[in-house]
Amino acid sequence: MRRERYGGRVVERGVIGVDLGGTKLLAGAVDADLGIHHRTNRPVYGLDQDGLVQMVADAVQEIRTAVGGGIEAVGFGIPCTFDSRTGRAVQAANAPILDMAFHDVMSERLGLPVIVDNDANCAALCEARVGVGAGCSELVLLTIGTGIGGGLVLGGEVYRGWIGGGAEMGHMVVEMDGPPCQSNCPNHGCLETVCSGTALVRIASLAVARRPDTALGHALEEGRELTGPLITRLAQEGDPVAADAIALIGRRLGIGLVSLVNIFNPQMVVIGGGVSAAGELLLEPAREIVRERALAPNRDVVRIEAAAFGAEAGMVGAALAAREGIGVARAGYPEAVS
Ligand SMILES: [Zn+2]
Repeated sequence: MRRERYGGRVVERGVIGVDLGGTKLLAGAVDADLGIHHRTNRPVYGLDQDGLVQMVADAVQEIRTAVGGGIEAVGFGIPCTFDSRTGRAVQAANAPILDMAFHDVMSERLGLPVIVDNDANCAALCEARVGVGAGCSELVLLTIGTGIGGGLVLGGEVYRGWIGGGAEMGHMVVEMDGPPCQSNCPNHGCLETVCSGTALVRIASLAVARRPDTALGHALEEGRELTGPLITRLAQEGDPVAADAIALIGRRLGIGLVSLVNIFNPQMVVIGGGVSAAGELLLEPAREIVRERALAPNRDVVRIEAAAFGAEAGMVGAALAAREGIGVARAGYPEAVS
């Protein structure tokens, strides 16, 4: 079915998955049984376009050499919004790839078929195929880090909207006159303005000023920087300010999930990204809000779970997309259609 629909083919030999973030590249070879071989890491920050293409080519070559050939395709997950009509990144965290036909350039350079997709779409594919949502045909994924990325699997396939710009669920409005959103988003009160890692740090820093005699307050006194990982660790150790901040983020997340559960009736909502390290401290408040405020029957059947793949979801998902020959843009596949 998938082969017919996409005119593609399922690659049976090895593929390489590349998670090309704003600051670093993580890549690895994934075999037909989903075993991961020879991971590699490279810094991305500060490269121009030629430098980036060269760095990616070097990383892919390193992996091909290490695994002894047999690589059939390369998938890239990138934190960008793509226009599938051109394959070009329209809103790009990786500035050097803005407005570049990344898939064509990389396919020619690597001499291999290449697919490109948004990193959260790759993570959603990973969790729906082989992660916590394995077997789910309807899955919503949010990755909560500095911002909030979104990926949707509907009817067993990644859903990207008409020209590839869909599933931006972090930019769903939850507060009409809320705070201005970050970077390229002109909106106010988006989900990511109230429950991203950035919002967590803001909430905790306001709260700790009122309650300095706590573990979090003492950490700041010692000159520690207030970060998401620090708040998460102290929350897990029982610090009340840190735990309250995470619970508030969880309830706000729940408000966003109510709309997603009502609209998509997913089997599972998967929460990934750095903030999801808080685990049940984050998820249980979100579940409570969904139970209270979403519509039946959706609220009674949805499962809200932490991602299984953590920092490797983008890489593994990009490899799976390469294996299936699907993505927002692709080049070099024998059956590729433009
Ligand atoms: Zn926004």
